[in-house]
Amino acid sequence: MENEIRKDYLLDRWVIIAAERAKRPSDFKVEASPRDVGKVCPFCPGNEEMTPPATLLYLEKEGKLLRDRDSGGARRSDWIVRCFPNRYPAVKPETKEVKAVDNEMLYRTRAYGFHEVIVESPVHDEQPSKMRLKQLKYSLMAQIERAAAFYRDPSIRYVQIFRNYRREAGASLSHPHSQIIATEHIPKILTEEVKSSKTYMEKEGRCIFCDIIEVEKESSRLIYESKHFVALAPWASIQPFEFWILPKKHSANLLKITDEELDELSRILKAGLRALSEVLGDPPYNYVFHTAPKYPRGIEKFYHWHLEVYPKLAVWAGFEIGTGMYINVTPPEVAAESLKAEIKKCL
Ligand SMILES: [Zn+2]
Ligand SMILES: [Zn+2]
Ligand SMILES: [Zn+2]
Repeated sequence: MENEIRKDYLLDRWVIIAAERAKRPSDFKVEASPRDVGKVCPFCPGNEEMTPPATLLYLEKEGKLLRDRDSGGARRSDWIVRCFPNRYPAVKPETKEVKAVDNEMLYRTRAYGFHEVIVESPVHDEQPSKMRLKQLKYSLMAQIERAAAFYRDPSIRYVQIFRNYRREAGASLSHPHSQIIATEHIPKILTEEVKSSKTYMEKEGRCIFCDIIEVEKESSRLIYESKHFVALAPWASIQPFEFWILPKKHSANLLKITDEELDELSRILKAGLRALSEVLGDPPYNYVFHTAPKYPRGIEKFYHWHLEVYPKLAVWAGFEIGTGMYINVTPPEVAAESLKAEIKKCL
């Protein structure tokens, strides 16, 4: 296969698929995580005083899920999932209005929003790739519940749920956790996805994501298909071994996921991350949920939520930074082949 340049399904984002020097899993050397010995983990039960009071706690009593929050200065430590405001928030609810500078060129707005941490398990090293399925489901449920709470704020337009795994991918603490940032802005990638999917709907009368699923299910980029989901290596993957998970039933909004779907998402997400870990030796990764922003109207028809997993195996250097164009040394077809073989063993 020769090198070729591919365009993302929706975005004006291009990637050089460097097939001529295609790298297989064994070509990537992932260093083992350094052990954080001797350090007190602020996310472990018993150390809640090191973080702000919880806005949402999941507790389990006699097999039943209960909800609570920290109040009156006290902190509970018998939680199974714990959500609280980030100590160093990028955006926060207490902000003053700022004036967009007189000069149009120097535009700005206030940094209003919410930035929370979701501690996914009380167990320090229970990462999603090996998490008890019920625990993973509760962790996703809590993230969705907090995202829904932020969407109820009239000024919030978009809520991003994301996960950084290992220091190389931006996680400063190793204890399993995700984050949510809710802003008054619809970020660039979402804006572009929304715009493209709307145009496609107007032209073709169908959801572009539903069409992507139909096409990719028959391709060599399919990794796994279950009753409600597909996992695939996207056509214009920008990272080696990048994969996406999409619900087969058309749905714009992750927040409307059913209980049965959530069970299955937990299973496929765990298996996908496990397969990635097995194939590449536990690489760092980032994953992001893309779900419908609050606007424009009618978005339910043409947008389709999904999860994008970006293993951190390549360093984006001068070319990528300078151009927004990428070089990927592992064609998605090669990535899918390894992940497909491995995921079967992980389910
Ligand atoms: Zn811990
Ligand atoms: Zn769809
Ligand atoms: Zn997306």
